[in-house]
Amino acid sequence: MPLTVARKDELTAKIEAGERLTRQDGEDLYATDDLAWLGRLAHGVRTAKNGDVVFFNVNRHLNLTNVCTASCAYCSFQRKPGAKDAYTMRVEEAVRLASEMAPLGITELHIVNGLHPTLPWKYYPRVLRELKAALPQVALKAFTATEIHWFEEISGLTADAILDELIDAGLESLTGGGAEIFDWDVRKQIVDHKTHWEDWSRIHRLAHRKGLRTPATMLYGHIEEPRHRVDHVLRLRELQDETGGFQVFIPLRFHNDNNRLSHLPMAQPADVLKTFAVSRLMLDNFPHVKVFWVMHGLSTAQLALNYGADDMDGSVVEYKITHDADGFGTPDKLTRDDLLDLIRDAGFQPVERNTRYEVLGEYEGPVPQAKRRAEPQSVLS
Ligand code: SF4
Repeated sequence: MPLTVARKDELTAKIEAGERLTRQDGEDLYATDDLAWLGRLAHGVRTAKNGDVVFFNVNRHLNLTNVCTASCAYCSFQRKPGAKDAYTMRVEEAVRLASEMAPLGITELHIVNGLHPTLPWKYYPRVLRELKAALPQVALKAFTATEIHWFEEISGLTADAILDELIDAGLESLTGGGAEIFDWDVRKQIVDHKTHWEDWSRIHRLAHRKGLRTPATMLYGHIEEPRHRVDHVLRLRELQDETGGFQVFIPLRFHNDNNRLSHLPMAQPADVLKTFAVSRLMLDNFPHVKVFWVMHGLSTAQLALNYGADDMDGSVVEYKITHDADGFGTPDKLTRDDLLDLIRDAGFQPVERNTRYEVLGEYEGPVPQAKRRAEPQSVLS
């Protein structure tokens, strides 16, 4: 049911006063059709936290193997051993691929993989050590909590010992994946691996205690309902109250190509923008909300910057998980200049950051609308 004017006024007053929103507030925000109102509120919060800038980093995604023991219903990436397009990189190959990017000034490698059934655990710290030796200036953001849990299983070690060894090998941050939707009724239908809220939160809590800063994601737009999205961000908000170790929240739109959920329609832009806005409003203790343009398309990603997002990932040169799933013409890479143009075109000032959100460079902001209009515009080319 659409929200009454009185309820909207109540929520507006609460948000403008900086009061924490409840589960019911979150569900009510999802119930509104007034996207302009929701966007104004989320943009106000985003601007108060981060001004008129949009952060970005220049990174490369690297998937060491697509071989996976699990078969998650939404996954377009995993292959079974022996499949003709299954692959696993040798350490040298990973280093060679990453090194090819060095001249482009990457500051981060983002590494996620399938849960390979036979690769020994020692392979993973070895890859990190070799990458760090070859690219000492590049931060290694690697492995989901699901992979850390998998390493526990294949090594017999605790997550504590695993993280210590990975940090010693050069790990700077975990990645935020494996979160999907934490609610069990949804999760049990789409997730095939063994890492659920209890282990996901245990591993991020441990990483935060060791001084790592991590992202958190949410895969939305499949079989879940808005109340599950609210529940998901409330769990993260509570964990963030405890540890303070999350840097950024990243909503990821489910893609319906080449997986077992291909019969589902994908979230439309209005739902995307609503999800960004409500997430920004609920997660009052998260410094940043990131829009991953690969998952949303460039135009919707630009709009999301006005609905709570303040960070745009990234200068991705290769991202196999999503690129395999994309039938909408979204490019598989953007250069730094492409990204600067995209951010300015959306009306924001680009700021380059590193993995820890330290500022590496500030760029000129957009040409103001008024100045653009002062020039006569040609309507015929
Ligand atoms: S989402 Fe991850 S764990 Fe699940 S099937 Fe795909 S690669 Fe494997």
